Amino acid sequence: MLQLIKDPAWQATAAKIEAKISDRLRQIDETVLYNQAKVLEAFQDEQVADFHFASSTGYGHNDAGRETLERVYAKVFGAEAALVRPHIVSGTHAISLALYGVLRPGDELLYITGKPYDTLEEVIGVRGEAGEGSLAEFGVSFDSVPLLEGKVDFAEVAKKIKPNTKMIGIQRSAGYAWRPSFTVEEIGAMVRFVKEIKPDVVVYVDNCYGEFTEDLEPTQVGVDLAVGSLIKNPGGGLAHSGGYVVGRADLVHRAACRLTAPGIGAEQGAMLGTNRTLFQGFFLAPHVVGEALKSAVFAAGLFEEIGLETHPSSQARRTDIIQAVRLGSRERLISFCQSIQAAAPVDSHVKPEPWAMPGYADEVIMAAGAFIQGSSIELSADGPIREPFVGFLQGGLTYAHGKVAVLSAVASLKARGLLD
Ligand SMILES: *Cc1c(COP(=O)(O)O)cnc(C)c1O
Repeated sequence: MLQLIKDPAWQATAAKIEAKISDRLRQIDETVLYNQAKVLEAFQDEQVADFHFASSTGYGHNDAGRETLERVYAKVFGAEAALVRPHIVSGTHAISLALYGVLRPGDELLYITGKPYDTLEEVIGVRGEAGEGSLAEFGVSFDSVPLLEGKVDFAEVAKKIKPNTKMIGIQRSAGYAWRPSFTVEEIGAMVRFVKEIKPDVVVYVDNCYGEFTEDLEPTQVGVDLAVGSLIKNPGGGLAHSGGYVVGRADLVHRAACRLTAPGIGAEQGAMLGTNRTLFQGFFLAPHVVGEALKSAVFAAGLFEEIGLETHPSSQARRTDIIQAVRLGSRERLISFCQSIQAAAPVDSHVKPEPWAMPGYADEVIMAAGAFIQGSSIELSADGPIREPFVGFLQGGLTYAHGKVAVLSAVASLKARGLLD
């Protein structure tokens, strides 16, 4: 690494990229400043105090730290209530809480941003084993409206909203799809459109990877529920595990009753010593998301420099931390992920290989030399082994790490003769 960053040719390349992306970097700093102030104000309004970091055990009744943390989240998201728990095992679990909390037999879930994220196929029941309790097994139906040139097909959405359409699903981030992510402004327009047709429909947003990339969150433009993972943006790289559900109080309560049990809801759940890192991670999150955004923009600039197609481009405004690059071959995708792993602070000696990861239909290769297992607010790269072999890069606790890792990944593609 040291050799690479001292090499004049690579220094010149890095300087050229940074000149090209200077406006973007400046704009990211503005977003970080705004969101840092927003989070700080919520901490102060809720009078976060030292004793909130103490741990609860057993049932976890009256955990003042947990209750304050949830009010801080609610305030930052401009929502009525929040459920923020280490017991939520992943983003998929958080989404499941929202879906099972709201949907009942006979209801329909309509996704208006194309097919949902891969792991949700088993939750919805379009893939996977019978007997696991998918929504389909409970008599909840599902439909989706394919995107039209990367945009919501509003005419088709209008046709598909039926009397039993209980919930509208919006996925903010592209996930493993080659399409633009949806800005908060665009999400606001979607909400207005569907509520015009059916005012009582519940609009939920899969907010994974989107938190703090813009000044507003989806819950501030009319979304009823937003959901995400704490080992992505809002955990700030410190959360050991967890997820959140924010939004309308009655709906958050229903999600809480799924997580625990009816009658208990959010009132139990020992935090087992996690309060301090959840507070501190949330405080750091705006800054860490900024570092990840800068890493993504730098990566886009560099990939464009070597003639690869990127999504979003280095000049685009962002609404999530994901950088996609069309690598075009299996060998390049594997090499790219292995290089990002080799540039990690943890497990840099390990070589990732494609594998059949639970929840995903295709083989996936994942590079994550992270302090928190699977944390993708830490620098990580992955991609499903399928055409057109798109690599996804996300995270970076520090911009400097993102920069050196991406430079070394491209250097090694070159050294292996994998670039044209
Ligand atoms: C990460 C992610 C999820 C949830 O994934 P988990 O691995 O279960 O945390 C869902 N949707 C999107 C768009 C994601 O990026």
